[in-house]
Amino acid sequence: MGPDDRTATHCPYCALQCGQWVGPSGEVDAREFPTNAGGMCQKGWTSGALLAHPQRLTSPLVRTSREAGFTETGWDDALSGVAGRLAALRAEHGPDSVAVFGAGGLTNEKAYLLGKFARVALGTSQIDYNGRFCMSSAAAAGNRAFGVDRGLPFPVTDLDDADLVVLAGANVAETMPPLMSHLTGARLVVVDPRRTPTAERAIASGGLHLAPRPGTDLVLALGMLHAAVVDGHLDLTYLDERTTGFDDVWATASQWWPERAERVCGVAATDMRTVVGWLAESSRRYVLTARGAEQHAHGVDTVAAWINLSLALGLPGRPGSGFGTITGQGNGQGGREHGQKSDQLPGYRHITDPVARQHVAGVWGFPRPRSPGPAAARSSSSTPSAVPAGRGRCWSSGPTCWSPRPTPAPSPSGSTRWTCSSSPTCYPARRRCAPTSCCRSPSGRRRRGP
Ligand code: SF4
Repeated sequence: MGPDDRTATHCPYCALQCGQWVGPSGEVDAREFPTNAGGMCQKGWTSGALLAHPQRLTSPLVRTSREAGFTETGWDDALSGVAGRLAALRAEHGPDSVAVFGAGGLTNEKAYLLGKFARVALGTSQIDYNGRFCMSSAAAAGNRAFGVDRGLPFPVTDLDDADLVVLAGANVAETMPPLMSHLTGARLVVVDPRRTPTAERAIASGGLHLAPRPGTDLVLALGMLHAAVVDGHLDLTYLDERTTGFDDVWATASQWWPERAERVCGVAATDMRTVVGWLAESSRRYVLTARGAEQHAHGVDTVAAWINLSLALGLPGRPGSGFGTITGQGNGQGGREHGQKSDQLPGYRHITDPVARQHVAGVWGFPRPRSPGPAAARSSSSTPSAVPAGRGRCWSSGPTCWSPRPTPAPSPSGSTRWTCSSSPTCYPARRRCAPTSCCRSPSGRRRRGP
């Protein structure tokens, strides 16, 4: 393959988007690009084989019924047939009778056009894309914590200089092998129930493989956050200046001291404390999540817990440190940003936000919003729990424990917290927190431990 007749492009598969050359007959070669540095995995090396495969469709096929066989037709006939059928369905059953399903393989421009086609041309509210399963948990957790859904908010080359990288639910040594070239200098910590090749690399790097029982990684993250508080690793200045709501986070994490978390998830409490200590003491450190943390029933909460741990230690927004989610599909991030996600208009604009809807309508040339969706934005704020009169929430025992005679106490973030009046030593900063023995319910009965 000569250098003049080949095209510089990217592998079509995963989000690493390795640079590659493709020749006129589908010959593929690796190309220097920051994400892959001239390497590719087996999927990339074989991607060109599809281009000339004898079973590849190169012209439209139509059939008159489900029982009939397919026959070849021209593009004009095929397109007018599809348009006529869509119009007939819309006239007979309404706009929502047609659904549109996009994918992370679309370019930004195609994702934008697909969203506009669905919402304006078809007028359907039924649009989504395959990121619904893939990264929706990460997107929801990112929106919850940062107000924006951004998978990896820094170039992957930033990882080259990392001292420590925690990979939660990621097996990149097998799924994105070229990414490993960015992790050669870092101590790795891998969170995965399986001893994967990435976990082997973590051990070889002087790090740790934390193997929670399947479905318990949320408990592990909460146990590590508890350890960060009790062992004095909180970045208090960062928390005060750049975050809100740590009291609410602690209301949950306080219930998962490492020894209790160990009994549920199977990871040794000492390992939790070791990793939190490494994260706190390293100057260049990252926490990255992927599908293992996201694709289960508590994916949003699990990603949120890893984000909260990262915020508690002051990682996001600092040069050389951060939190990110490793995007899976080629343009999964672009698909979300450009309007094929069910709840987002282009540019991360939420479909329930009247101002955003009006803005997009203006861009699309309409005086009023035409996208299907609610007329007014719903409030997304959570309802704060009521505080019983004359009581405060116990700082060390979570939302269900109320002190009968609240005692104000200083807290790590400087705001007023309440300790149990029955035992003023029940306060994690003093490293004597033992919620099961010191916290009492309003009735005075001891709360049962786990
Ligand atoms: S790592 Fe991803 S982008 Fe790179 S060659 Fe493999 S599938 Fe393609």
